[in-house]
Amino acid sequence: MQVKKIRDFSPKKLESFIVELGEKPFRARQVCKWLYQKDAVSFDEMTDLSIETRGKIKSVFDIEPTLKIIEEQKSTDGTLKYLFELSDSNRIESVIIPEKKRLTLCISSQVGCALGCKFCLTGTVGKIRNLDTSEIIDQYLFISSKLPGPITNIVFMGMGEPLDNIERVIDTIEILTDKNAIGMSSKRITVSTSGLVSGINELGKRISVNLSISLNASNDNTRNEVMPINKKYPIRKLINSAVKYPLPGRKTLTFEYVLLKGVNDSVKNAHEVVELLKGINCKINLIPFNEAYPLPYNTPEMNRVYEFQKILENAKINAKIRKSRGRDILGACGQLAAKYPHKINSRNKEQSADI
Ligand code: SAH
Ligand code: SF4
Repeated sequence: MQVKKIRDFSPKKLESFIVELGEKPFRARQVCKWLYQKDAVSFDEMTDLSIETRGKIKSVFDIEPTLKIIEEQKSTDGTLKYLFELSDSNRIESVIIPEKKRLTLCISSQVGCALGCKFCLTGTVGKIRNLDTSEIIDQYLFISSKLPGPITNIVFMGMGEPLDNIERVIDTIEILTDKNAIGMSSKRITVSTSGLVSGINELGKRISVNLSISLNASNDNTRNEVMPINKKYPIRKLINSAVKYPLPGRKTLTFEYVLLKGVNDSVKNAHEVVELLKGINCKINLIPFNEAYPLPYNTPEMNRVYEFQKILENAKINAKIRKSRGRDILGACGQLAAKYPHKINSRNKEQSADI
Protein backbone atom coordinates (compact mmCIF):
# COMPACT_ATOMS: atom_id res chain seq x y z
CA MET A 1 0.00 0.00 0.00
CA GLN A 2 1.24 3.48 -0.84
CA VAL A 3 2.11 5.53 2.25
CA LYS A 4 -0.43 8.31 2.85
CA LYS A 5 0.09 11.67 4.48
CA ILE A 6 -1.82 11.45 7.75
CA ARG A 7 -2.88 15.10 7.80
CA ASP A 8 -4.58 14.64 4.41
CA PHE A 9 -7.36 12.92 6.37
CA SER A 10 -10.22 14.72 8.10
CA PRO A 11 -10.99 13.27 11.56
CA LYS A 12 -13.96 11.34 10.10
CA LYS A 13 -11.92 9.93 7.21
CA LEU A 14 -9.09 9.01 9.58
CA GLU A 15 -11.55 7.12 11.75
CA SER A 16 -12.89 5.08 8.80
CA PHE A 17 -9.36 4.30 7.73
CA ILE A 18 -8.21 3.24 11.19
CA VAL A 19 -11.29 1.02 11.54
CA GLU A 20 -10.36 -0.59 8.21
CA LEU A 21 -6.98 -1.38 9.76
CA GLY A 22 -8.87 -3.38 12.42
CA GLU A 23 -8.63 -0.80 15.18
CA LYS A 24 -11.37 0.74 17.35
CA PRO A 25 -12.78 4.15 16.23
CA PHE A 26 -11.55 5.93 19.39
CA ARG A 27 -7.96 5.23 18.32
CA ALA A 28 -8.47 7.84 15.58
CA ARG A 29 -9.49 10.40 18.18
CA GLN A 30 -6.34 9.63 20.17
CA VAL A 31 -4.22 10.07 17.04
CA CYS A 32 -5.94 13.39 16.26
CA LYS A 33 -5.19 14.69 19.74
CA TRP A 34 -1.53 13.80 19.30
CA LEU A 35 -1.36 15.44 15.90
CA TYR A 36 -3.24 18.63 16.58
CA GLN A 37 -3.23 19.23 20.35
CA LYS A 38 0.03 17.72 21.51
CA ASP A 39 2.07 18.62 18.41
CA ALA A 40 3.48 15.11 17.97
CA VAL A 41 6.13 14.86 15.28
CA SER A 42 6.51 11.06 15.38
CA PHE A 43 4.16 8.11 15.90
CA ASP A 44 6.41 6.84 18.70
CA GLU A 45 5.31 9.74 20.87
CA MET A 46 1.74 8.39 20.83
CA THR A 47 2.30 6.37 23.96
CA ASP A 48 -1.36 5.67 24.72
CA LEU A 49 -1.43 3.48 21.59
CA SER A 50 0.06 0.01 21.83
CA ILE A 51 3.29 -0.68 19.96
CA GLU A 52 1.30 -2.97 17.66
CA THR A 53 -1.27 -0.27 16.84
CA ARG A 54 1.48 2.28 16.28
CA GLY A 55 3.20 -0.22 13.99
CA LYS A 56 0.06 -0.62 11.87
CA ILE A 57 -0.39 3.14 11.62
CA LYS A 58 3.27 3.71 10.79
CA SER A 59 3.11 1.18 7.99
CA VAL A 60 0.43 3.18 6.14
CA PHE A 61 0.89 6.78 7.22
CA ASP A 62 3.59 9.39 6.98
CA ILE A 63 3.68 12.18 9.60
CA GLU A 64 6.43 14.38 8.10
CA PRO A 65 5.82 18.14 7.69
CA THR A 66 4.79 19.04 4.12
CA LEU A 67 6.19 22.59 4.16
CA LYS A 68 9.65 23.99 4.39
CA ILE A 69 9.95 27.62 5.47
CA ILE A 70 11.95 29.67 2.98
CA GLU A 71 11.42 33.21 4.15
CA GLU A 72 9.60 35.15 6.85
CA GLN A 73 9.01 38.89 6.37
CA LYS A 74 7.62 41.43 8.79
CA SER A 75 5.79 44.51 7.60
CA THR A 76 6.16 47.89 9.30
CA ASP A 77 2.52 47.45 10.44
CA GLY A 78 3.25 44.10 12.15
CA THR A 79 1.84 41.87 9.39
CA LEU A 80 3.92 38.73 8.86
CA LYS A 81 4.31 36.91 5.57
CA TYR A 82 5.64 33.36 5.33
CA LEU A 83 6.97 31.84 2.12
CA PHE A 84 6.89 28.01 2.07
CA GLU A 85 8.28 25.44 -0.31
CA LEU A 86 6.31 22.25 -0.99
CA SER A 87 7.86 18.85 -1.64
CA ASP A 88 7.62 19.36 -5.43
CA SER A 89 9.39 22.76 -5.12
CA ASN A 90 6.24 24.79 -5.70
CA ARG A 91 5.84 27.74 -3.38
CA ILE A 92 2.98 29.26 -1.42
CA GLU A 93 2.50 32.13 0.98
CA SER A 94 0.53 32.66 4.19
CA VAL A 95 -0.02 35.89 6.10
CA ILE A 96 -0.60 36.72 9.77
CA ILE A 97 -2.52 39.91 10.48
CA PRO A 98 -2.37 41.07 14.11
CA GLU A 99 -5.18 43.35 15.28
CA LYS A 100 -6.19 44.56 18.74
CA LYS A 101 -8.13 41.48 19.78
CA ARG A 102 -7.46 39.15 16.89
CA LEU A 103 -4.65 37.27 15.30
CA THR A 104 -5.88 36.33 11.85
CA LEU A 105 -4.20 33.76 9.64
CA CYS A 106 -4.74 34.10 5.90
CA ILE A 107 -4.07 30.76 4.24
CA SER A 108 -3.55 29.55 0.70
CA SER A 109 -5.59 26.75 -0.84
CA GLN A 110 -3.89 26.45 -4.25
CA VAL A 111 -0.57 27.14 -5.95
CA GLY A 112 -1.67 30.05 -8.15
CA CYS A 113 -5.29 30.37 -9.27
CA ALA A 114 -7.23 29.52 -12.42
CA LEU A 115 -9.70 32.37 -12.24
CA GLY A 116 -7.54 35.09 -13.68
CA CYS A 117 -9.11 38.11 -12.00
CA LYS A 118 -7.44 41.07 -13.64
CA PHE A 119 -6.62 42.91 -10.38
CA CYS A 120 -5.00 39.97 -8.57
CA LEU A 121 -1.36 38.95 -8.65
CA THR A 122 -2.18 35.30 -7.90
CA GLY A 123 -4.46 35.34 -10.93
CA THR A 124 -1.59 36.34 -13.20
CA VAL A 125 0.30 33.18 -12.22
CA GLY A 126 -2.50 30.82 -13.33
CA LYS A 127 -3.33 27.62 -11.48
CA ILE A 128 -0.40 25.32 -11.00
CA ARG A 129 -2.09 22.83 -8.68
CA ASN A 130 -4.43 22.31 -5.75
CA LEU A 131 -2.91 22.07 -2.30
CA ASP A 132 -3.42 18.85 -0.37
CA THR A 133 -5.25 19.05 2.96
CA SER A 134 -1.95 18.45 4.78
CA GLU A 135 -0.37 21.37 2.93
CA ILE A 136 -3.23 23.67 3.94
CA ILE A 137 -3.38 22.60 7.60
CA ASP A 138 0.42 22.64 7.90
CA GLN A 139 0.37 26.39 7.22
CA TYR A 140 -1.67 26.71 10.42
CA LEU A 141 0.42 24.21 12.40
CA PHE A 142 3.76 25.72 11.42
CA ILE A 143 2.74 29.33 11.99
CA SER A 144 0.84 28.76 15.24
CA SER A 145 3.92 27.02 16.67
CA LYS A 146 5.95 30.18 16.01
CA LEU A 147 3.59 32.75 17.51
CA PRO A 148 3.40 33.84 21.13
CA GLY A 149 -0.42 33.95 21.17
CA PRO A 150 -3.14 31.74 19.65
CA ILE A 151 -4.47 32.29 16.14
CA THR A 152 -8.04 33.50 16.69
CA ASN A 153 -9.36 33.63 13.10
CA ILE A 154 -8.68 31.92 9.82
CA VAL A 155 -9.51 33.34 6.41
CA PHE A 156 -9.17 31.43 3.15
CA MET A 157 -7.98 34.57 1.39
CA GLY A 158 -4.42 33.64 0.49
CA MET A 159 -3.39 32.20 -2.87
CA GLY A 160 -6.08 30.35 -4.77
CA GLU A 161 -9.82 29.94 -5.02
CA PRO A 162 -10.90 27.73 -2.10
CA LEU A 163 -14.06 26.50 -3.82
CA ASP A 164 -11.98 25.28 -6.77
CA ASN A 165 -10.36 22.89 -4.25
CA ILE A 166 -13.48 22.28 -2.24
CA GLU A 167 -12.93 18.72 -0.97
CA ARG A 168 -9.56 19.53 0.57
CA VAL A 169 -10.84 22.83 1.95
CA ILE A 170 -13.75 21.03 3.64
CA ASP A 171 -11.40 18.39 5.09
CA THR A 172 -9.17 21.20 6.41
CA ILE A 173 -12.15 22.96 8.01
CA GLU A 174 -13.14 19.67 9.65
CA ILE A 175 -9.66 19.37 11.17
CA LEU A 176 -9.85 23.00 12.33
CA THR A 177 -13.26 22.61 13.97
CA ASP A 178 -13.24 19.03 15.35
CA LYS A 179 -13.03 18.95 19.16
CA ASN A 180 -10.49 16.14 19.03
CA ALA A 181 -8.34 18.05 16.56
CA ILE A 182 -7.88 21.85 16.63
CA GLY A 183 -11.33 22.65 18.02
CA MET A 184 -11.79 26.16 16.63
CA SER A 185 -15.29 27.63 16.34
CA SER A 186 -16.62 27.65 12.77
CA LYS A 187 -17.66 31.27 13.43
CA ARG A 188 -13.97 32.19 13.33
CA ILE A 189 -13.36 30.67 9.91
CA THR A 190 -14.12 32.50 6.66
CA VAL A 191 -14.13 31.12 3.15
CA SER A 192 -13.72 33.84 0.55
CA THR A 193 -14.83 33.10 -3.00
CA SER A 194 -14.78 34.88 -6.31
CA GLY A 195 -18.21 33.40 -6.94
CA LEU A 196 -18.15 29.75 -7.95
CA VAL A 197 -21.89 29.26 -7.53
CA SER A 198 -21.76 25.46 -7.79
CA GLY A 199 -19.13 25.50 -5.01
CA ILE A 200 -21.18 27.81 -2.78
CA ASN A 201 -24.19 25.50 -3.14
CA GLU A 202 -22.08 22.44 -2.40
CA LEU A 203 -20.33 24.07 0.58
CA GLY A 204 -23.75 24.98 1.98
CA LYS A 205 -24.85 21.34 1.91
CA ARG A 206 -21.71 20.23 3.72
CA ILE A 207 -20.45 22.84 6.16
CA SER A 208 -21.32 26.13 7.88
CA VAL A 209 -18.59 28.79 8.10
CA ASN A 210 -18.49 32.51 7.33
CA LEU A 211 -18.84 33.25 3.66
CA SER A 212 -17.28 36.23 1.93
CA ILE A 213 -18.16 37.00 -1.67
CA SER A 214 -15.67 38.95 -3.76
CA LEU A 215 -18.13 41.14 -5.63
CA ASN A 216 -15.69 43.74 -6.94
CA ALA A 217 -18.04 45.26 -9.52
CA SER A 218 -21.52 46.75 -9.49
CA ASN A 219 -22.77 45.50 -12.86
CA ASP A 220 -22.20 42.48 -15.10
CA ASN A 221 -20.35 44.41 -17.82
CA THR A 222 -17.62 45.58 -15.45
CA ARG A 223 -17.52 42.29 -13.57
CA ASN A 224 -17.14 40.34 -16.83
CA GLU A 225 -14.16 42.51 -17.59
CA VAL A 226 -12.35 42.28 -14.23
CA MET A 227 -13.49 38.79 -13.14
CA PRO A 228 -13.93 36.41 -16.09
CA ILE A 229 -15.83 33.90 -13.87
CA ASN A 230 -18.76 36.34 -14.03
CA LYS A 231 -19.51 35.20 -17.58
CA LYS A 232 -20.36 31.79 -16.18
CA TYR A 233 -21.98 32.95 -12.93
CA PRO A 234 -23.37 36.48 -13.31
CA ILE A 235 -24.00 38.75 -10.31
CA ARG A 236 -27.69 37.94 -9.73
CA LYS A 237 -27.09 34.21 -9.79
CA LEU A 238 -24.17 34.66 -7.41
CA ILE A 239 -26.10 36.77 -4.93
CA ASN A 240 -29.10 34.42 -5.04
CA SER A 241 -26.87 31.50 -4.17
CA ALA A 242 -24.92 33.39 -1.47
CA VAL A 243 -28.04 34.51 0.43
CA LYS A 244 -29.15 30.87 0.71
CA TYR A 245 -25.86 29.77 2.28
CA PRO A 246 -26.36 28.56 5.91
CA LEU A 247 -24.05 30.82 7.96
CA PRO A 248 -23.16 29.97 11.58
CA GLY A 249 -25.63 31.50 14.12
CA ARG A 250 -25.92 35.32 14.18
CA LYS A 251 -23.30 35.78 11.46
CA THR A 252 -23.95 37.88 8.36
CA LEU A 253 -22.88 37.44 4.79
CA THR A 254 -19.85 39.49 3.77
CA PHE A 255 -19.07 41.06 0.41
CA GLU A 256 -15.64 42.30 -0.59
CA TYR A 257 -15.32 45.14 -3.08
CA VAL A 258 -11.88 46.05 -4.38
CA LEU A 259 -12.02 49.67 -5.51
CA LEU A 260 -10.22 50.17 -8.82
CA LYS A 261 -9.67 53.77 -9.84
CA GLY A 262 -11.88 54.79 -12.75
CA VAL A 263 -13.20 51.24 -13.21
CA ASN A 264 -15.71 50.48 -10.43
CA ASP A 265 -15.41 53.38 -7.97
CA SER A 266 -17.86 56.00 -9.29
CA VAL A 267 -20.92 57.42 -7.56
CA LYS A 268 -23.03 55.53 -10.11
CA ASN A 269 -21.24 52.30 -9.20
CA ALA A 270 -21.95 52.89 -5.50
CA HIS A 271 -25.67 53.36 -6.24
CA GLU A 272 -25.64 50.15 -8.29
CA VAL A 273 -24.14 48.30 -5.31
CA VAL A 274 -26.96 49.68 -3.15
CA GLU A 275 -29.48 48.26 -5.63
CA LEU A 276 -27.76 44.87 -5.59
CA LEU A 277 -27.52 44.57 -1.82
CA LYS A 278 -30.62 46.33 -0.53
CA GLY A 279 -32.74 44.08 1.65
CA ILE A 280 -29.91 41.58 2.17
CA ASN A 281 -28.59 41.06 5.69
CA CYS A 282 -24.93 41.66 4.93
CA LYS A 283 -21.87 43.83 5.34
CA ILE A 284 -19.45 44.99 2.69
CA ASN A 285 -15.72 45.57 3.01
CA LEU A 286 -14.32 48.19 0.69
CA ILE A 287 -10.71 47.42 -0.19
CA PRO A 288 -8.74 50.15 -1.99
CA PHE A 289 -6.85 48.28 -4.70
CA ASN A 290 -3.38 47.15 -3.64
CA GLU A 291 -1.00 47.95 -6.44
CA ALA A 292 1.54 45.34 -7.56
CA TYR A 293 3.50 45.06 -10.79
CA PRO A 294 2.25 44.17 -13.50
CA LEU A 295 -1.40 44.72 -12.51
CA PRO A 296 -2.99 47.34 -14.78
CA TYR A 297 -4.99 49.37 -12.20
CA ASN A 298 -4.51 52.21 -9.72
CA THR A 299 -5.66 52.84 -6.18
CA PRO A 300 -8.40 55.46 -5.96
CA GLU A 301 -7.91 58.64 -3.91
CA MET A 302 -9.14 58.19 -0.34
CA ASN A 303 -11.83 60.89 -0.69
CA ARG A 304 -13.36 58.79 -3.48
CA VAL A 305 -13.31 55.73 -1.18
CA TYR A 306 -15.05 57.71 1.62
CA GLU A 307 -17.64 59.01 -0.82
CA PHE A 308 -18.36 55.45 -1.98
CA GLN A 309 -18.72 54.32 1.62
CA LYS A 310 -21.06 57.22 2.47
CA ILE A 311 -23.48 56.30 -0.33
CA LEU A 312 -23.71 52.74 1.00
CA GLU A 313 -24.08 53.87 4.59
CA ASN A 314 -26.82 56.33 3.65
CA ALA A 315 -28.69 53.34 2.22
CA LYS A 316 -28.23 51.54 5.59
CA ILE A 317 -25.64 49.12 4.24
CA ASN A 318 -22.85 48.33 6.70
CA ALA A 319 -19.74 49.34 4.73
CA LYS A 320 -16.26 49.27 6.22
CA ILE A 321 -13.04 50.39 4.59
CA ARG A 322 -10.53 47.61 5.00
CA LYS A 323 -7.22 49.01 6.03
CA SER A 324 -4.60 47.53 3.83
CA ARG A 325 -2.10 45.49 5.83
CA GLY A 326 1.35 44.35 4.83
CA ARG A 327 1.52 46.25 1.53
CA ASP A 328 5.23 46.99 1.92
CA ILE A 329 6.05 43.25 1.91
CA LEU A 330 3.49 42.40 -0.83
CA GLY A 331 1.47 40.64 1.87
CA ALA A 332 -1.82 42.45 1.30
CA CYS A 333 -4.89 41.08 -0.50
CA GLY A 334 -4.14 40.19 -4.08
CA GLN A 335 -0.41 40.66 -3.73
CA LEU A 336 0.51 37.02 -3.07
CA ALA A 337 2.31 35.27 -5.86
CA ALA A 338 5.24 33.56 -4.12
CA LYS A 339 7.62 35.15 -6.60
CA TYR A 340 6.26 33.16 -9.53
CA PRO A 341 6.86 34.51 -12.98
CA HIS A 342 3.62 35.97 -14.25
CA LYS A 343 1.82 34.23 -17.11
CA ILE A 344 3.77 31.03 -16.64
CA ASN A 345 3.69 28.41 -19.42
CA SER A 346 0.09 27.18 -19.38
CA ARG A 347 0.92 23.64 -20.48
CA ASN A 348 2.19 22.97 -16.98
CA LYS A 349 -1.00 24.00 -15.33
CA GLU A 350 -3.83 21.90 -13.96
CA GLN A 351 -7.26 22.42 -15.45
CA SER A 352 -10.29 23.12 -13.29
CA ALA A 353 -13.49 21.30 -14.13
CA ASP A 354 -15.85 24.13 -13.26
CA ILE A 355 -14.11 27.10 -14.82
N1 SAH B 1 -9.99 33.45 -4.43
C1 SAH B 1 -10.68 33.98 -3.32
C2 SAH B 1 -9.80 34.22 -2.12
C3 SAH B 1 -8.45 34.81 -2.36
S1 SAH B 1 -8.43 36.49 -2.92
C4 SAH B 1 -11.44 35.22 -3.70
O1 SAH B 1 -11.22 35.74 -4.80
O2 SAH B 1 -12.28 35.66 -2.92
C5 SAH B 1 -8.84 37.35 -1.41
C6 SAH B 1 -9.40 38.75 -1.61
O3 SAH B 1 -8.41 39.61 -2.15
C7 SAH B 1 -10.59 38.81 -2.55
O4 SAH B 1 -11.66 39.52 -1.95
C8 SAH B 1 -10.04 39.59 -3.73
O5 SAH B 1 -11.06 40.30 -4.39
C9 SAH B 1 -9.03 40.49 -3.06
N2 SAH B 1 -8.00 41.02 -3.96
C10 SAH B 1 -7.42 40.39 -4.99
N3 SAH B 1 -6.50 41.20 -5.57
C11 SAH B 1 -6.51 42.37 -4.89
C12 SAH B 1 -5.75 43.57 -4.98
N4 SAH B 1 -4.80 43.73 -5.89
N5 SAH B 1 -6.01 44.57 -4.10
C13 SAH B 1 -6.94 44.40 -3.14
N6 SAH B 1 -7.65 43.26 -2.99
C14 SAH B 1 -7.44 42.26 -3.85
FE1 SF4 C 1 -8.07 33.78 -7.82
FE2 SF4 C 1 -9.27 35.16 -5.84
FE3 SF4 C 1 -7.15 36.17 -7.16
FE4 SF4 C 1 -9.48 35.95 -8.41
S1 SF4 C 1 -9.05 37.25 -6.63
S2 SF4 C 1 -7.48 35.37 -9.27
S3 SF4 C 1 -10.27 34.07 -7.56
S4 SF4 C 1 -7.15 34.36 -5.87
